[in-house]
Amino acid sequence: MSTEPMFDVAIAGGGIVGAACALACAQRGLKVALVERDVLGSGATAAGMGHVVVMDDSEAQFALTRYSQQLWQKLAPQLPACCEYEQRGTLWIAADAEEMEAAERKLAWYTARSVKCELLSAEQLRKAEPNLAPGLTGALLVSEDAVVYPPTVAMELARRAQALGAIMVLGRAVREIGDGALVLDDATHIRAQRVLLALGADSVSLRPGLPIRKRKGHLVITDRYPGYVHHQLVELGYLKSAHSMGSDSAAFNVQPRQTGQVLIGSSRQFGAEGAEVDQYILTAMLERAKVYLPGVAKLSAIRVWTGFRAATPDKLPLIGPDAHDPKLWLATGHEGLGITTSLGTAGLIADMLTHQHPAIAHEPYLPARYVQPDSVNQHFENEANHEVDWSHAGTDHGIR
Ligand SMILES: Cc1cc2nc3c(=O)[nH]c(=O)nc-3n(C[C@H](O)[C@H](O)[C@H](O)COP(=O)(O)OP(=O)(O)OC[C@H]3O[C@@H](n4cnc5c(N)ncnc54)[C@H](O)[C@@H]3O)c2cc1C
Repeated sequence: MSTEPMFDVAIAGGGIVGAACALACAQRGLKVALVERDVLGSGATAAGMGHVVVMDDSEAQFALTRYSQQLWQKLAPQLPACCEYEQRGTLWIAADAEEMEAAERKLAWYTARSVKCELLSAEQLRKAEPNLAPGLTGALLVSEDAVVYPPTVAMELARRAQALGAIMVLGRAVREIGDGALVLDDATHIRAQRVLLALGADSVSLRPGLPIRKRKGHLVITDRYPGYVHHQLVELGYLKSAHSMGSDSAAFNVQPRQTGQVLIGSSRQFGAEGAEVDQYILTAMLERAKVYLPGVAKLSAIRVWTGFRAATPDKLPLIGPDAHDPKLWLATGHEGLGITTSLGTAGLIADMLTHQHPAIAHEPYLPARYVQPDSVNQHFENEANHEVDWSHAGTDHGIR
């Protein structure tokens, strides 16, 4: 068998991140192979909410989410209807005066960075979302945030990559990765100048030393109630405990689907490895939703599911060369933001691989920041030592 690399880049994992990387690399003229053990877009990509959202946890998180959002805006007109891209905007809801102050700070922060947003008074909020509970103080509307249907986007990105010559190997698992090769479960070796690990929460199955932990989430979807909500609705309450990172949390986070369905989230759990629905978490999540949308109790739910986010200690993904194997590259660890940041991740990977100047500074996301394994363990231990506290509302877009 020839040991010459057949591809410029061979990607393990066909979630939205792997698919986006395949397309961005193919668009820059690279020879690409992608291996997916299941169906394209079937992992966390199928389980996620599809909220494309700009975030302000850190400058690095903002840079990647904003860059990605701009890439989504460019891509949107070319997406087929089944990708359900809609610029709904996010309403960050303030339940009291303290949260309204937080909304004002958020407004100032975003405005200074040219993100379109405005404050809504209690009355304006009521008009915008009549099904919200009475007595809420107001909200911050971030209008460029959007909603997509992630699994069809992953398929569309892969289809486009394929049209540019990328090879898709479906129904085969990668058994080993590294040193310029993917070894598949049937012992096939796919050799490439670079191999890219894009396995999301499963990344540690092939690279156990990576600073990634699974973070489980639950979602519920209702029957069709067109117009029941109009924006992505997220509570601001977590700001009261912004520096806390309790191991389990449930937050009010609700999304209008194009079908008229209402997607209700969301929960976060470390240390829950099984995919089963946890009644205790589910109840806590729905109780939280009832506080903000009292009528939700009367809606008919048709499906509940779980999925796993790939969490890193510093809440930033791992994008770029592995610290130990220069032929191995990483595009993983996106936690609750991987739908949003898939396109930005792909842009960075493709730019770095082709020696182009990246559109945003790439340094904050480089895996080399974790060369000290002790610091990784320490971060995770600190998180685990926090008590479970249901008042810690997290968003689906960052570990709070
Ligand atoms: C409940 C929940 C809500 C979320 N909401 C949002 C949101 O609103 N907005 C947002 O931006 N993000 C959200 N996320 C996060 C987002 O879904 C993920 O960050 C994103 O889907 C990660 O994509 P990925 O391609 O890295 O991983 P995945 O989608 O998990 O893809 C990895 C792929 O690798 C494949 N695979 C695994 N092992 C192997 C192997 N050995 N060989 C070959 N293939 C393999 C899997 O089958 C899978 O298809 C949410 C996540 C959850 C769980």
